[in-house]
Amino acid sequence: DRVVSGEATEHEQTFEQSLRPQSLSTYIGQEKVKNNLAIFIEAAKQRHESLDHVLLYGPPGLGKTTLAAVIANEMGVNMRTTSGPAIERPGDLAAILTALEPGDVLFIDEIHRLPRSIEEILYPAMEDFCLDIVIGKGPGARSVRLDLPPFTLVGATTRAGAISAPLRDRFGVLCRLEYYNEKQLTDIVIRTSEILNTEIEEIGAIEIARRSRGTPRIANRLLRRVRDFAQVRGDGIITLDLADYSLELLQVDRLGLDHIDHKLLKGIIEKFRGGPVGLETIAASIGEEPDTIEDVYEPYLMQIGFLQRTPRGRMVTNLVYQHFQLEMPMK
Ligand code: ADP
Repeated sequence: DRVVSGEATEHEQTFEQSLRPQSLSTYIGQEKVKNNLAIFIEAAKQRHESLDHVLLYGPPGLGKTTLAAVIANEMGVNMRTTSGPAIERPGDLAAILTALEPGDVLFIDEIHRLPRSIEEILYPAMEDFCLDIVIGKGPGARSVRLDLPPFTLVGATTRAGAISAPLRDRFGVLCRLEYYNEKQLTDIVIRTSEILNTEIEEIGAIEIARRSRGTPRIANRLLRRVRDFAQVRGDGIITLDLADYSLELLQVDRLGLDHIDHKLLKGIIEKFRGGPVGLETIAASIGEEPDTIEDVYEPYLMQIGFLQRTPRGRMVTNLVYQHFQLEMPMK
């Protein structure tokens, strides 16, 4: 497992649950998204209606699940949680939908992985709050229409492009979550330290924030690891030196890159003179799946300006040569 992965590990889930902010005012960053949502929530509440369906998209660990729970909280309703791959049969979805209370939030994580046949059942549910189900088989089969309580579907996805147009069109509110800046991540690290009862110097928090790849989940994970070092090797207080020392040992460099990023970037430099080189070729040369490279490794490297996608393939930028203190080849 990568310590800088945006995905949660299984045993992290209870820890994460305890850290989730409950309201828009304690949810750090994502100002544009929060401002819009605040208006839509207020308006829906004034009209005594359920909130329009919301699609949240962006890389893993940026706070989609947290925001869905915040929306339910702010609306004063309950949230039911499921995920695209968990809904296999029409009956699974019908069971969830018919159990909702009026106004509830139904959160579907990884909504791009819903089977197409299930998606089609979702359309009338989202549009008209009704469910068409077929009872029986063969000539005796008949379709019945069930009324559902009004509800808000909050869908989350890391791959907005993988959502079909008819499904996307049924969301009234589309929110793209952005990577967090250093100040916001520092605030998140300090907030989490308070919850964990850990003393931290601000410059220690900044150092963790810088290496967190713009991602709250990674910031919280690194904080927890550094806290262990502080407890065992120090006096429990997270100072700059201690943060620096622990993160070096965890092999997370000053920009939050680990050995896999190094392998990818140095591979492009050493084997392909910095590119351009096709995704498939890179994948074969470092023994990874093209999809993994595209979805997991590349987004952050592009965000920090280390990698460019060009029509002729991937290229590393000058920043990479500077970061590794390498000479740029003559082209
Ligand atoms: P996603 O669903 O996008 O993968 P999560 O909502 O599960 O991400 O967030 C991962 C962790 O990061 C959670 O423990 C949460 O507490 C924390 N987190 C995410 N966004 C924020 C935020 N804006 N402010 C504070 N903590 C956050």
